[in-house]
Amino acid sequence: MAIKTKYLTVIGLEVHAQLKTETKLFCKCSTKFGAKPNANTCPVCMGYPGVLPVLNEKAVEYAIKAGLALGCEIDPNCKFDRKQYFYPDLPKGYQISQFDKPICNGGEITIFKDKVVRLERIHMEEDAGKLVHASEDSADRLHGSDYSLVDLNRAGTPLIEIVSKPDISSAEEAIAYVKELRKILMAIDVCDGNMQEGSLRCDVNISLHKEGEPYGTRAEIKNVNSFRSIGRAIEYEYKRQSKLLDSGEQVVQETRLFEENSGKTFSMRSKEDSHDYRYFPEPDLVPLAIPKSFIDELKDNQPELPSQKRNRYVSEFSIPEEAAGIIADDNGLAELFENTVAKGSDAAKVANWLTGAVSAYLNNKEINISATKLSAENLSEMLRLIKDGIISDNIAKNSIVEELLEKGGSVQAIVDREGLAQITDPAAIEAIVQEVIDANPKQVEQFKSGNQKIKGFFVGQVMKATEGKASPQLINESLSKLLK
Ligand SMILES: [Zn+2]
Repeated sequence: MAIKTKYLTVIGLEVHAQLKTETKLFCKCSTKFGAKPNANTCPVCMGYPGVLPVLNEKAVEYAIKAGLALGCEIDPNCKFDRKQYFYPDLPKGYQISQFDKPICNGGEITIFKDKVVRLERIHMEEDAGKLVHASEDSADRLHGSDYSLVDLNRAGTPLIEIVSKPDISSAEEAIAYVKELRKILMAIDVCDGNMQEGSLRCDVNISLHKEGEPYGTRAEIKNVNSFRSIGRAIEYEYKRQSKLLDSGEQVVQETRLFEENSGKTFSMRSKEDSHDYRYFPEPDLVPLAIPKSFIDELKDNQPELPSQKRNRYVSEFSIPEEAAGIIADDNGLAELFENTVAKGSDAAKVANWLTGAVSAYLNNKEINISATKLSAENLSEMLRLIKDGIISDNIAKNSIVEELLEKGGSVQAIVDREGLAQITDPAAIEAIVQEVIDANPKQVEQFKSGNQKIKGFFVGQVMKATEGKASPQLINESLSKLLK
């Protein structure tokens, strides 16, 4: 943070990421989002007595992939433990998690180029179910609701919890950290990163202290599930805790809930220590014995990480850092970029289109490039027609690219159908330029008395008369000749 504040902020984040497996962590139920309540359940994830969990190997593979991408040590002999607590969304009365031997230890994430946030660990665990709080005004909140419904579709879904060390010192850093983590997990294809559907959720631990003094007491903020909420929750907590400290009061160690509507945090319960959960080794599952060859194979086949890809685009294709970032961070855009360049298109031009008109369209429609019909074939064709002077940049931008995104197809066919080819006949352009000059004697006078800027006016008039199809180069040549 650039602004100097009275207290230093110490933040550690616990991010829960849902692994992209087809089925749950300990049973065969589907993990698909959006099913009818309790449709994706079975005796195992509903916590019936006498049933046994069976570990999903794919979830272990994804957790290892995440650990390798984040520079962690993988523990091949990690184990599962029972974390006991009572809550209506937890049918077994305990959650299978990992306590003292998590699958990954250490690791780090770099933000803002050189700020390193160290990781404590990554452990695997199953998700709980979901409570839907019903009330007359149908707002889904606990206070004021008439009754609550339990949906166990999410119970047993595989999660990894990525725990950072308290190396984060501002809301900006916290947001950058979660953004980078999300990009990495999406790039290695272990999490879909969909925060709205709860595939990535964040708890924020935050404390304040004065420079040179020991760390303050921390509060844990739950339910911070968007980048905006992370920023708001941290800012609210800074204000709340600094007010307490200013007036000589104590910050209480507790768990607080962030409420999106008000932007405030509320006390939920006093913070539990690990002994409150009475952890013990899960008796229904043996400790893991992950073969070294399995880890080595994953290590050898690691996909390129977003930061590596960004650097490569800058060095290999000499495109600006910002554009490299936008493209590299999106698997679909990156693939389209590389395939289009492989077809011989100029990398800088491809990058310009993807980060300009194409990104604007995607942002506006809130969709990914994979949901469009733009392909390396038609994008490279469009760029070739621009390069050959058949169409202008403006025509491509205003009349072609949107159709390619929506319908795909051949660019030449669109140009022929709509009559979009540039007028490249010098005589035809000269005739139009002459007309424009004749129709605007006042502007001609201004130009002749030294106002060079007025030339743009003439170019604009010719473009208007030709519906943007005149070659700008030819217009300029004619203007220079006829205005003498
Ligand atoms: Zn199940």
